[in-house]
Formats: sequence, structure tokens, C-alpha cells
Amino acid sequence: METYQIIAIIGVLIFIYFIFFRNKNSAQKEISSLNEIEYVGSSTMTFDDVAGNYEAKQSLLELVDFIQNPEKYSKFNVRMPKGILLYGEPGTGKTLMAKALAGEAGVPFYAVSGSDFVQVYAGLGAGRIRNLFKKAKKSGKSVIFIDEIDAIGKKRAAGNIKGSDEGDRTLNALLTEMSGFADDSGTVVLAATNRIDTLDKALLRPGRFDRQIEIMLPDKNARKDIIKLYLNRIKAEDVSIDELADLTVFFSGAMIENLINEAALLAIRQGSDRISGEHIKKAYLQVLAGVEKKDYDNGMQKTVTSYHEAGHAFVSRYLLPENKIIRVSVIPTSKGAGGYTLSTPKSEEIMTKGKIRKHLSVLMAGRVSEEVFFGKENITAGAQNDIEKATSLAVDYVSKYGMNDETFINYQLLSDKLRIPLTSVENSVKNLTSEIYEKVFKIVEDNKEKVEKIAKLLMEKEVIYQDELENLL
Ligand code: ADP
Ligand code: ZN
Repeated sequence: METYQIIAIIGVLIFIYFIFFRNKNSAQKEISSLNEIEYVGSSTMTFDDVAGNYEAKQSLLELVDFIQNPEKYSKFNVRMPKGILLYGEPGTGKTLMAKALAGEAGVPFYAVSGSDFVQVYAGLGAGRIRNLFKKAKKSGKSVIFIDEIDAIGKKRAAGNIKGSDEGDRTLNALLTEMSGFADDSGTVVLAATNRIDTLDKALLRPGRFDRQIEIMLPDKNARKDIIKLYLNRIKAEDVSIDELADLTVFFSGAMIENLINEAALLAIRQGSDRISGEHIKKAYLQVLAGVEKKDYDNGMQKTVTSYHEAGHAFVSRYLLPENKIIRVSVIPTSKGAGGYTLSTPKSEEIMTKGKIRKHLSVLMAGRVSEEVFFGKENITAGAQNDIEKATSLAVDYVSKYGMNDETFINYQLLSDKLRIPLTSVENSVKNLTSEIYEKVFKIVEDNKEKVEKIAKLLMEKEVIYQDELENLL
């Protein structure tokens, strides 16, 4: 053998040795950390520790009885959800609520985070899941909580049906375990995510996380409750709860808790035994400085969003009175909208030409209202989502539905077959949208007082419901 061959062989041997031991050591570490990840304990939290989130609390409250008396339900063949998905912005109290459920039901609480399953060695993620469920089963009834479930439950890549990759194995183990325990076991699995849109549909099917509860950022009333909850634990003097609730618009529960904690720290540092309005104001500036956006002007944002949503609400009521507006809100949703106007029925109904034009009008009304009240220079990016939807609808109107100039043509096909670019569609879409935009502009301008009334009420209450809107107009 030549010397270089010997060197090469030794090199390869060292390499293999290194890889093998490195792997083994890390794997051992992984296994020994298996028990640390799973936090097991009895929770002393109750729903009294959760402020706001009234609907979510109500929904979870009925599970308490189910966990305690599962036979009662199985006797009548009533199936309770095995898995409940809590989704919404971070810091809105999803973990807190899971703990409260376990605390109220008086059963052990098992918690893992999906992010702990990322980058583990082959099969370990799945093993961890099985281990977790095994433990939970041993204790009989329990609440299992999986935080950041999106880390293991991401939509599978197209074509990856065999589920060969590690994430899929973990996910499959979870699905198998969930269908593996009996309906009357008194065990509930709660999962949390702030990215419900990225979740694999398989997770949301019946028998899995088939109940989904949105946990929203607190509106003003809820913020007052959260503030009261935390101020009750400390002595406070001349702190206006109403004022603080106004200051903390768009804050999550966690941010409010943090703010009050900072204020308490300031008070202690100054040798005071109670929090004052001054401490709160200082802490507020401190907390805001930590917020990413330096020009965080939540007052202004709320004002613009109020006028934007008021535009949607008014034009919807004006052009589509048959659609009931259930809720108008200026609190951002976890789906990325700055505010939200919820009306029913949704736009999936049968679409006539007239209806589509009206829907386009409603979509434009938010931006139009911004322009009418604040001027062309001051329109915001808050209409991004509306513009996306409107463009898609307008393109279909022209190129698929044959509604523009009564042409009976599918333009996509036409351009494919003739190999010509789609310039005429582009122009038609532009003309259609600017024609409708102008009409909406006129509607909003002619009804400025009414739109403003809605906006003002929104600024005050942040969320208004159907009857309040009807009373107002
Ligand atoms: P999430 O799981 O939604 O990210 P957490 O439950 O971890 O949020 O919230 C973090 C902390 O913020 C909680 O421990 C609690 O102190 C506070 N908090 C958040 N939301 C609420 C709420 N609705 N009521 C009371 N405290 C809250
Ligand atoms: Zn909008």
C-alpha cells in the first residue's frame, strides 16, 4: 500500500469514529433531556387569573366538567373535543388558559413546546411525543399542552406524501397518540399557535384539534380587567385605570403585565410602597422604547384604523344591507388585518355581476375613507390586504367571469392559446377598479358625518356590535 492510501484510510477511520461518538453523545444528551422538557405539575392557576378572553374562558369552562366526569358525556354518546387549538397573538394568555383549565379541573398539567422538537435526531421527536402521552396516560386524567405547535405541524411540502422527514414523523406520532386515547379518558390536549395559517390541515380534522378558539388581543374593556387584576396585587394610588386602558391599545395581556411590573419595580427603587400614576407613565415610556417600531404611535394608528374600518362598515351597510355586520373592530387580528369588519354571509355566495361590484366597493371603502378624512398624502399601508383581495376579484371579473364589456372570453386561455401578452386585461382591470373607486369615494364623501360617527364610536369602544351600529345610524 502506498503511504497516501494508508493516510487516507486512517483519515476515514478517524472521521467515522468522530461522527459516531459525536452522534452518540448528543443522542445521549437528547435522551437525558427528555424528562426536562416535559414540565409536569399540578397547576394552581384558575380562570380568575385570566382576565378578558370571556368567550374563550366560557368555552374552556365546559371542559372542566368533561375532564372531571367524562362518563357523563360518553353515556349519552356525546363526543367532546380531544384537541383544542388556541390561536392568536403571542402574550394573549394561551398558556395561562391551559394552566387554568388544569388548575380548575384539578388534574396534572403536561407541557411541551413544538420548538423543542426541531433539530432533534431521527425518531427522537416522535419518541418524545409517545413518551409524553405515556406519562399523561399513567396519571389518568390530565391536560396536555403543546405550545408553538406550528413548529411540528407545518403544512407538508407538496409532493412529500410519504412523510419521510423528521417533522412529519413527529407530527404523525402526535396524530396517532391523539386518536389512541379513549374519548372518556378525561384527557384533553391543548395546543397553541400564533400562526394558524401555516398549520397542516391534518391537524384540524375531526378527532384531532377540531375545536379552534381564537384568543384575541384585549379590547378596552378587557384591558381594564387585566389592569385591575394586576393592580389588585400591588398597592396603587392615583392610577387612572381608564387612562391606562387607553394608553395600552394594541397591547397584549403579557405587555400589560410587564408594564405594571416595571412600574412596581420603579416604585420599589424609589423606596415607595405603592405604584403611582407617575410610575406608570415612566414604565410606559420604558416599555414602549423596547417595542420594535420607534415611531410607535398607537393613538394615531387607532385613529386611522377607526376611520378605515368605519368606511368598510358604512359602505357594506349602504350597498349590501342584506349582509349583516356582526362586529367591527380596530384591534388587529392574528391573521394580519389591522382592524376587522365581520359581516355575514361571507363572500362565497353565488356572485352576480352587481354583487361582485358591490363587494369590490366594500373592499375599497377602508382606503377611501382614509383618503377622504386624512388626504391622499396620508393613506396608510393598512389597505394591503383589501387591495390583494380586490385585485384578485377584479381580475376574475374581467378574465374569468366575462363580465367586463360583456366579452364572453376567458382571457387566460386566450393568451395561452394565442401566445399573446394580457395587456387588455390589465387595462380593463385598471379601468374597472378606478371606476368603482370613484363611486365609493362619492358615497363616503356624501355620507361623511355618518362614517365619522362610526369612526368616533370605534375610537371610544374599539369593538362595536350589530345593534350598536344600527342604533347609531
Ligand atoms: P401566550 O401563551 O398566548 O403567548 P401567555 O399565557 O404565556 O401568552 O402569557 C404570558 C403572561 O402574560 C401570563 O403569564 C400573564 O402574566 C400575562 N397575561 C397574558 N394574557 C393575560 C390575560 N388575558 N389575563 C391575565 N394575564 C395575562
Ligand atoms: Zn380594510
